[in-house]
Amino acid sequence: MITASPGARLTRPETSTASDWRQLWRDAVTDAGELLALLGLESLAERLPPADAGFALRVPRGFVARMRPGDSRDPLLLQVLPQLAELDDIPGFVTDAVGDMASRAAQGVLHKYHGRALLIASGSCAINCRYCFRRHFPYGEEMAAAGQWRQALEHLRQDSSISELILSGGDPLSLATSKLEELSRGLAELPHVTRLRIHTRLPVVLPERIDAAFLSWLDALPLQKVVVLHANHANEIDASVVAACSRLRDAGATVLNQSVLLRGINDDAGTLAELSERLFTAGVLPYYLHQLDRVQGTAHFEVEDARAQALMDTLRTRLPGYLVPRLVREVGGDLSKRPL
Ligand code: SF4
Repeated sequence: MITASPGARLTRPETSTASDWRQLWRDAVTDAGELLALLGLESLAERLPPADAGFALRVPRGFVARMRPGDSRDPLLLQVLPQLAELDDIPGFVTDAVGDMASRAAQGVLHKYHGRALLIASGSCAINCRYCFRRHFPYGEEMAAAGQWRQALEHLRQDSSISELILSGGDPLSLATSKLEELSRGLAELPHVTRLRIHTRLPVVLPERIDAAFLSWLDALPLQKVVVLHANHANEIDASVVAACSRLRDAGATVLNQSVLLRGINDDAGTLAELSERLFTAGVLPYYLHQLDRVQGTAHFEVEDARAQALMDTLRTRLPGYLVPRLVREVGGDLSKRPL
């Protein structure tokens, strides 16, 4: 276990070195031409949409290093490379596909399900996934951390049925650890909140974020802790990710994973089985496999329901039940995820 005195943890100044996660964050690849050049795929440049189709390219260099050079169908590359298809206007694909705004309870607070509230903790991500369900979310107005968590904490205070707080975004671990400490000081005054869940892709795409300061904070939290990762393909999980997951577990977190079913990336049973096996090697259990949220600009990733269900039937014949994620769709207004 990680040890740290609470007093020291709360007052420790955050220092930055040239090699820490913030520097790696800043060094991310943000130019599609550079990304293609790094992979020897310059010839694809003529197929890029103008202005990244209105959603900036961003990918940490450590994630680029896990892509296969010269492979234009690399499953990691396809998750981040802007495509002309994003400009297609497809009926049924909208800006708020999961009814986020209808569930807004306070600034940066979404309240959809019984007993749980979700904070849009941050609008930033280390990586921009082209299929992102919140690629059109108005982060400028809706961020819980922006007002020192005041509105969010007030909402939680007034509803004692909320026992679990979910930090989402964007990526909540994009926040400085000092900002997370600020939140946990507020949570300490809310005895009905007993569990903290963190939805984050950072341990996968920038595992350096799981640093000593963050782990000290996590370890000392007087709450049950769940970290839900987001990985879609086994190639995303290298030794650095396995080590980050191990550190999270050592700090007392239950670590789960959610994936999105993506055409051309992970829509075959062998790929999904390999992902589950690799996750388990990292001490992570598969939790959800999401059907794509029908967000404008993402239709080319969609897999038909019948095909998705057939994939799951095959997956069940290949894996023990605890390695089979639940195939679900989120439908705005529903009181839970909808199993398929
Ligand atoms: S990490 Fe999550 S919130 Fe961020 S771009 Fe990817 S899918 Fe969207």
